Amino acid sequence: MARVFNFGAGPAALPLPVLEKAQAELLDYAGSGMSIMEMSHRGKTYQAVIDAAEAGIRKIMKVSDDYAVLFLQGGASMQFAMLTNNLLLPGTSADYVNTGAWAKKAMAEAKITGQIKEIWSGESHKFMNIPTAAEIEKAESAGAAYVHITSNETIGGVQYKEFPKTKAPLVADMSSDIMSRRLNVNDFGLIYAGAQKNIGPSGLALVIIRKDLMERCPETVNKFYRYRTHAADGSMYNTPNTWGVYIVKLVTEWVESIGGLEALEKRNAEKAKILYEALDSNNFWKPCAEKAARSTMNVTWRLGTEELEAQFVNEATAAGFAMLKGHRSVGGLRASIYNACTKEAVVELTKFMADFAKKNG
Ligand SMILES: *Cc1c(COP(=O)(O)O)cnc(C)c1O
Repeated sequence: MARVFNFGAGPAALPLPVLEKAQAELLDYAGSGMSIMEMSHRGKTYQAVIDAAEAGIRKIMKVSDDYAVLFLQGGASMQFAMLTNNLLLPGTSADYVNTGAWAKKAMAEAKITGQIKEIWSGESHKFMNIPTAAEIEKAESAGAAYVHITSNETIGGVQYKEFPKTKAPLVADMSSDIMSRRLNVNDFGLIYAGAQKNIGPSGLALVIIRKDLMERCPETVNKFYRYRTHAADGSMYNTPNTWGVYIVKLVTEWVESIGGLEALEKRNAEKAKILYEALDSNNFWKPCAEKAARSTMNVTWRLGTEELEAQFVNEATAAGFAMLKGHRSVGGLRASIYNACTKEAVVELTKFMADFAKKNG
């Protein structure tokens, strides 16, 4: 079996033990004589799976009973819209923090629904910086419907180091750093994340929402787009992404098995340190994000020329380091080192990089 070191930004690598468990259980899930994909979501067997996935998330992220945990379809992009249907009510305005590509997409979708205000922008820094908590707290508008942030900008490679304490509910797109570090869920009104970076396969969004906020949605919004519809039916108002939720369950079991979020956070910090130290060790590499904003999940850098970058990607691919090309909108190079990425993968990559720099520097 030849598995590459996968640095893809998403859908991204899953932990090997998760894939192996899914493989072992594929043909006969828990003695049912069928795969999880062929099974009714209304049966006891599947109910236990979705319950375990939710319980796993609640335990790892310390989510209290004041919050609903939902598994929805449509990925994070649908949440850009759905959250506005539920929270950006007529006559209100929401604050958005513009940290780059994904924040802009969230803003564009919100503008279709209603009024928003950009309260901070990284544009003058080419989106290579990140606001402090105090900057956002100072900029927050009086009476804002909510304040929206993108906890980690997957394309630029910048990440919040601290979260603001906002007066309005704090809404966060955590698609690319969900469950990668400890945080206080109670600081947020709504957290959402596409699953395919850190916690599962694509086509699934995890939503953690303070229960009282679900009541704000007007009845004029279609039933399917209301959070409370899905909460009332335990994320089974319609047929859920049964396979996706099952993989999330396995991922939460894997996180527990390696020591929970504390251990994972430590491991993620170590991996990022190794890679950034390699990038800082030689002028040959030109890391993109400002130091204080550097992401522990998506590491972005450039080389002297685009030709050299292409050569790097080609040689790395041939050597078993996959998906190191930067996002098509910005170019350059990017290593996504999410939860499932091992320390070994990062160490091997830095060895390859040292060799490449020696030959081409
Ligand atoms: C990947 C990503 C998205 C989009 O996720 P989809 O599931 O494809 O809709 C949104 N926000 C961030 C921060 C992402 O990394």
